[in-house]
Amino acid sequence: MTLERVPSSAPVLTPKLSPSHPWPDRSPNRWFPGWIKSAPFILLHLSLIAVFFVPVTVTAVILCAVTYFIRMFGITGAYHRYFAHRAYKTSRWFQFILAWLGCSAMQKGPLWWAGHHREHHRHSDTPKDPHSPHETSFWWSHVGWILSTEHANTPEDQVPDWNRYPELRWMDRWHWIPGILLAVLCYLIDGTSGLVWGFVVSTILVYHATFTINSLSHLFGSRRYATTDDSRNNFFLALITLGEGWHNNHHHYQSSANQGFFWWEIDISYVTLLALSCCGLVWDLRKPGEKALTHRLIQPTAPGTSLEQLTVNAAAPEQPSS
Ligand SMILES: [Zn+2]
Ligand SMILES: [Zn+2]
Repeated sequence: MTLERVPSSAPVLTPKLSPSHPWPDRSPNRWFPGWIKSAPFILLHLSLIAVFFVPVTVTAVILCAVTYFIRMFGITGAYHRYFAHRAYKTSRWFQFILAWLGCSAMQKGPLWWAGHHREHHRHSDTPKDPHSPHETSFWWSHVGWILSTEHANTPEDQVPDWNRYPELRWMDRWHWIPGILLAVLCYLIDGTSGLVWGFVVSTILVYHATFTINSLSHLFGSRRYATTDDSRNNFFLALITLGEGWHNNHHHYQSSANQGFFWWEIDISYVTLLALSCCGLVWDLRKPGEKALTHRLIQPTAPGTSLEQLTVNAAAPEQPSS
């Protein structure tokens, strides 16, 4: 099979907001119109009640675990570390597989996800951040911003590097297809038990584990680096999100394929990427150098360090992360 390499020279991203993103009104009333478009999201949560009416089989539990792991990797290893940050390289056909895996988690398409995430990094914990718990509320950062109409469209100006691939634009437009096919597959494997546990329960677990990185990872945990936001490292969140909980590390050095910087910082997504690189499916995994690991280092045990103090500390010129 011919491996068509994705060009490594990605266009320089322009730090500008789309005119369609005025970030105007974040009141609860603003959410209402979004609820109609978000009906599948809400119905999926309501359908959780089915767990009381279907038998829990061994096959269904295994399905739940497998679909959780694969789709969480689809979000962390594919959507986040590849499409949002280009932390490694791959072939064009495997790039499509990564997009498919991410879509199967039912969190919209790769361009939508990567575009909004790039906006988060550009404006972390400022009024222009799509989901800062400091600028809005916990619930807005966790789920409100997704239900709102404010962020319904793909911010195409944030993803010029991916827009030029027609198969990715197609995937972004028809992002629900992999999820629906997975639901059908779960049903074929173990009937209604497979559908409920392998798809519904697993999807909702992946949802809320992922969402904790937007909400809890900017509220609870320790800070190793003096970033200009309030990102945190959190061991528990790193476990359930396959490594994303090392969020302060990530904000410090965004383009790294590993978010756990040391051996004790468990990062299952990075281990998975290493395994894929051994198979030749991905390559050129980026890692922070020794200088970056110690730049803007603060005592991780420093008690009561406020965001304001850290922002002052971070006023020194920063070493580029990519
Ligand atoms: Zn963040
Ligand atoms: Zn990121």
